[in-house]
Amino acid sequence: MNPITFVLFLFVFLYGIVIGSFLNVLIYRLPNGEDIVLKRSHCMKCGYILKWYDLIPIISFLFLKGKCRNCNDKISLQYPMIELLNGIFYLLIFYIKGFHITSIIYCLFVSTLIVISIIDWNTFEIPIGLNYFIFILSIIIFVINIENWIPHVIGFFAISGFLFIIYLCSKGRAIGGGDIKLMAVCGFLLGFKLIILSFILGCIFGSVIHLIRMRISNQDNRLAFGPYLCFGMFLALLFGNQLISWYWNLLMIS
Ligand SMILES: [Zn+2]
Repeated sequence: MNPITFVLFLFVFLYGIVIGSFLNVLIYRLPNGEDIVLKRSHCMKCGYILKWYDLIPIISFLFLKGKCRNCNDKISLQYPMIELLNGIFYLLIFYIKGFHITSIIYCLFVSTLIVISIIDWNTFEIPIGLNYFIFILSIIIFVINIENWIPHVIGFFAISGFLFIIYLCSKGRAIGGGDIKLMAVCGFLLGFKLIILSFILGCIFGSVIHLIRMRISNQDNRLAFGPYLCFGMFLALLFGNQLISWYWNLLMIS
């Protein structure tokens, strides 16, 4: 790897962890309806207002050994993990998709999927603002790919329409409205092939992991579908086209 490429990837990673630390803010504040911009970051226990040097992604956590500077209360490992994960995801996206404007959109898309996954996992709700944000991203992708617009329009309805029918038949018991809206806007962004693949992957992961979870703990069997759908979309975005052509070749040979 030449030095310029290395520096570019380093910047991508740094952007990833800085935005990752903003994702933590969204994850904690959106479900409570707190202000995401004006309110200063503070310790959840003692209310200590964090200084700039307490807010450096990953570094501050390591330096403070995961404890509040003021009251020594433990800081959740989730903060540095989300920052690191977002940084790694940004690296992967730029590595696979190349240095292109769409890679920036895909990074923001994947970041939103992280926030949706964790909020849905904790609260069984997907804040509507996050769906709106993905819709804005999908319009940008749509405009960039305007000569290839049809798969995106079909993608909007491909899975969301199917889920909406299930929603109507089960009177809203089998599937949440949040999942339907999510699959509509994400289908618009990804196009119909990738959204169908995402849905299949999400169903496979969801059923396997859910069965394991129910075996391990006998507690409530409520399923948050969002995280599995998001994971399916992440894989489909990065590897979907290769996966589809591999499967297609397999069909052709047999
Ligand atoms: Zn504290």
